[in-house]
Amino acid sequence: MLGNLFELFRSRFPADRSRPFIQVPDGATLSYGDLEAISARFANLLVSVGVKPGDRVAVQVDKSPEAVALVVACLRSGAILLPLNTAYQSDELEYFLTDAAPAAVVCQPSRLAELEALAAKSGIKTCVLTLGMKGDGSLMERSKAQASDIATSTRGGDDIAAILYSSGTTGRPKGAMLSHDNLAANAATLHKLWGFRPDDVLLHCLPIFHTHGLFVAINCVLLNGTPMIFCPKFDAEQAIGLLAKATVFMGVPTFYTRLVSSPNLTPEACRNMRLFISGSAPLLEETFNTFKSMTGFTILERYGMTEGGMFTSNPLDGERRAGTVGFPLPDVALRITGEDGKVLAQGEVGIIEVKGPNIFKGYWNMPEKTKADFTEDGFFKSGDVGVVDARGYVSIVGRAKDLIISGGYNVYPKEVEDAIDRMEGVVESAVVGMPHPDFGEAGLALVVTPAQTALTPDGIIADLRGRLANYKVPKQVVLVRELPRNAMGKVQKNVLRDSYAAQWK
Ligand code: ATP
Ligand code: MG
Repeated sequence: MLGNLFELFRSRFPADRSRPFIQVPDGATLSYGDLEAISARFANLLVSVGVKPGDRVAVQVDKSPEAVALVVACLRSGAILLPLNTAYQSDELEYFLTDAAPAAVVCQPSRLAELEALAAKSGIKTCVLTLGMKGDGSLMERSKAQASDIATSTRGGDDIAAILYSSGTTGRPKGAMLSHDNLAANAATLHKLWGFRPDDVLLHCLPIFHTHGLFVAINCVLLNGTPMIFCPKFDAEQAIGLLAKATVFMGVPTFYTRLVSSPNLTPEACRNMRLFISGSAPLLEETFNTFKSMTGFTILERYGMTEGGMFTSNPLDGERRAGTVGFPLPDVALRITGEDGKVLAQGEVGIIEVKGPNIFKGYWNMPEKTKADFTEDGFFKSGDVGVVDARGYVSIVGRAKDLIISGGYNVYPKEVEDAIDRMEGVVESAVVGMPHPDFGEAGLALVVTPAQTALTPDGIIADLRGRLANYKVPKQVVLVRELPRNAMGKVQKNVLRDSYAAQWK
């Protein structure tokens, strides 16, 4: 029981509070002292508009240093932070407002009227404040009159610090309730495992409404008391230019595919770097290899989800293996189970289950789903399918929801995608299950190629026949230019299934 996570962070802040916390390229610098003062003013304002410990504060704002101060303010006031993707539109927002009934909403200044109308429509009593990218908006204005200190709200370690909605890759996003202890445990584990140093500088280009950019990245920095370079958006050329000032980078695989397409990614550009981390979606082996040959660095891939932060990581010292997500974290128990919930032997493919101090307290307002997703002995059923090799490295095979059962046989899309991706001229691919009158389900492969290509759907199928058992070979192949991805760069297989339903033969 650590209590309020903020106090853990504060105990690690540099003694000299004028040291930088956030540096925006060509913009403002926020020191640790600034963070303390601004977050206290925000926290005091939240309290003054009626936010009580345990109340939700919904935040849908652009990435800015003040947005991070707001995250910290929620901790200090004991409120539950509810970050929302800036891409969400009215209908989606109405769902979140109704579902979470926040006592305060902080939105972009341009969306004030929309959010006020939505709050009224949802029938919730809430105070709508605004925060712009340049420190503008009513949150800043009204907090100026507030005191720059506040007594930290006393919280038990099991009290909820945030409700983080999942990415909605497989359906409607689910709100994972994460406690102060959940966040503290994962941050402390990652901070140690990834060897954070007193001279580290993190290059931060991820969105801050998702676990990767918000808790994995920022919490490691707050525990380390060091600076981060904070880019509002990811731009490959800008990031390459900033690498020289940084030591650690965290990205989703699409960041890495964009980095390797630039001739400016060189060992010289990475001269001060010590660690590149990837996660949130599978990193292609080709990207891993190209990155290594261009920079000399071996990307460290790790795996986790909204429901608990990180679960596994490749080692800091030791072999980082392409196509694997490494070992379970020291405080995470991981096992693979079969359909009947029985624990499988090493080497067998099944559902990944995890247990540890970082695993969430359940889904907000979804007691039945929460119950169904935990085993009797307290393991969380991740919904991801994986396998552990003889040396203990975990590999993700895909999601259980994406598994194709064709003629009674299990087909793991990743195995088929890997076989397709190895063909000359293929950029990447996605295989999804579609209804089939004989087999129940059959595979449809969307294969990304350049506009000019010698590849044909029939040619790809013929090639696969020689390499895969017949039941794994997709029944139909469609050549496409790109795959639909969400904000975290994840391929949206449900979108593919829906959009190809009409032309499925
Ligand atoms: P939803 O649960 O709403 O459908 P989501 O599962 O994509 O969305 P997140 O919590 O953001 O929401 O993502 C977690 C998922 O991302 C994991 O369950 C896993 O499928 C995938 N993932 C994360 N890291 C990796 C990785 N390194 N390799 C493969 N998949 C990964
Ligand atoms: Mg999920």
